[in-house]
Amino acid sequence: MKLAVVTSNPNKAREVAAYFAGILEVEHVPLECPEFRHTEIAEIARGKAEFAYRALSRPLIVDDTGFFIDALGGFPGPCAAYVQDTIGNEGILRLMEGVADRSAHFETVIAFADEDGIRTFQGVLHGAIVEPRGEKGFGYDPIFACAGRTLAEMPLSEKNRISHRARALEAFRTWIREERAS
Ligand code: IMP
Repeated sequence: MKLAVVTSNPNKAREVAAYFAGILEVEHVPLECPEFRHTEIAEIARGKAEFAYRALSRPLIVDDTGFFIDALGGFPGPCAAYVQDTIGNEGILRLMEGVADRSAHFETVIAFADEDGIRTFQGVLHGAIVEPRGEKGFGYDPIFACAGRTLAEMPLSEKNRISHRARALEAFRTWIREERAS
């Protein structure tokens, strides 16, 4: 099975390709999937997967990621892309000025679609909002620290060992391995 990795975000595609290198054959399909509004990341991912499967009719995965800041009541949560594109990391840091509780987390849901339907796999990474550091990664990576370093300070190989996306991919990988064995 050559798995289609459906995303218009080249950074996500790079992380998924690096994760599966030598494990599973994947092909990046840069199809733009509409994001349906929902409070649950899994439901947004499911909607993207339904759209992509209707368009491509082949086994595929999509990713949806939310970013949740505890002191802001979970904002931006499922609106992470809109907030990143509008106020960006600078705006988030302004909102967090003088705020003592810096805790935040990412949630990624990978949705797998094939002729049997859709399954979802979740990965979470807890950390803290910090002043921007590092040139690697993308999105919120420069302002999100985990174990003393931001995700933007980590090489891709290291981010891929600990990240929310890697954890969701690991859950998917475990499931598909068991499916194939049965
Ligand atoms: P979406 O899953 O494409 O809706 O992404 C939500 C937002 O979170 C986008 O602005 C992405 O840039 C950002 N994002 C997604 N994954 C990551 C990540 O691994 N690190 C930092 N930001 C991310």
